[in-house]
Amino acid sequence: MASVPTVGGPRDVAELGRTLMHEHVVNVTPEFARDYPHLAWPEGRAAAVDAAVRGLREVRAGGIETVVDATAFGHGRDVAFVQEVAARVEGLDILLATGLYSFGHLPFFAELRAHREPDVLTTMFLHDIEVGIAGTEVRAATIKCATDRPGMTPEVERILRACAAAHRQTGAPLTTHTVAELRNGLDQQRVFAAEGVDLSRVLIGHSGDSQDLDYLKELMDAGSTIGADRFGMYMEGFPGLEERVGTVAALCRDGYGDRIVLSHDFTYHTDWFDLDDPPFEFPAEWAPTHVAAVVVPALLEAGVEEAQVEAMLVDNPRRLFSHGGGY
Ligand SMILES: [Zn+2]
Repeated sequence: MASVPTVGGPRDVAELGRTLMHEHVVNVTPEFARDYPHLAWPEGRAAAVDAAVRGLREVRAGGIETVVDATAFGHGRDVAFVQEVAARVEGLDILLATGLYSFGHLPFFAELRAHREPDVLTTMFLHDIEVGIAGTEVRAATIKCATDRPGMTPEVERILRACAAAHRQTGAPLTTHTVAELRNGLDQQRVFAAEGVDLSRVLIGHSGDSQDLDYLKELMDAGSTIGADRFGMYMEGFPGLEERVGTVAALCRDGYGDRIVLSHDFTYHTDWFDLDDPPFEFPAEWAPTHVAAVVVPALLEAGVEEAQVEAMLVDNPRRLFSHGGGY
């Protein structure tokens, strides 16, 4: 069996168990947190670690054994924070991501090396996968990139191509952020396919924000897995529990249960806004235990078979990490 790097060391993919494929343990902007810790960690960093430990212990108690932290460089990744948390949550594996999270802007260290080969971005991603992240021995298990409202700008396309190159060398699966209503998972597939990526090794994230079955089936017919990965994010303008469950149930009825994964896109601590005064109302359901406690029973109620639920939580994540290395 293939093995996958976790924060606690390599694991046999057969041991991953029920897996949440898109969560964030922490999003803290390094320069902001270094210079203005009172703004990034208003209650103190230790309190944020404690809160994440408490939350992840509840997740583990709900039967989840693995959490994929889809926090790439540029998204506020903090490997030391995740290591501290992981060491205190018994029986839960956390997998980390490399990649670059940007909707268009590239940092100067990337922009001003654009003429160099290989792309410095690929060099960074390979270091995280093959050596370790930020001076630790924790290796990245997946490669993350994003396409948001600005679409496939030249900068975003460069990031995707750099991710594809690191993927092809290592086999680590690709995982993405999309704006599902813009159907930009298809743009991502086009760039990946042009780079020779086997689309069955790609997870198109945030697809569950869409109820457009034709779009979702097109992504899966091309081989990719889709993320119904924002359960609990029932903010204005987003589908609610019933709509999201209905979409997954309809796709399972049509035989797509082997290409869907479930998650929350939950963040345990972020410095992107003041947690006591967020820019939008977060519904009470947006909690990291929501999938296990509420979504799974709702899917069964909607006619999804037990085996399909198991596939979405166990088999499909395992398949994505069961690659045989690079191409
Ligand atoms: Zn996310």
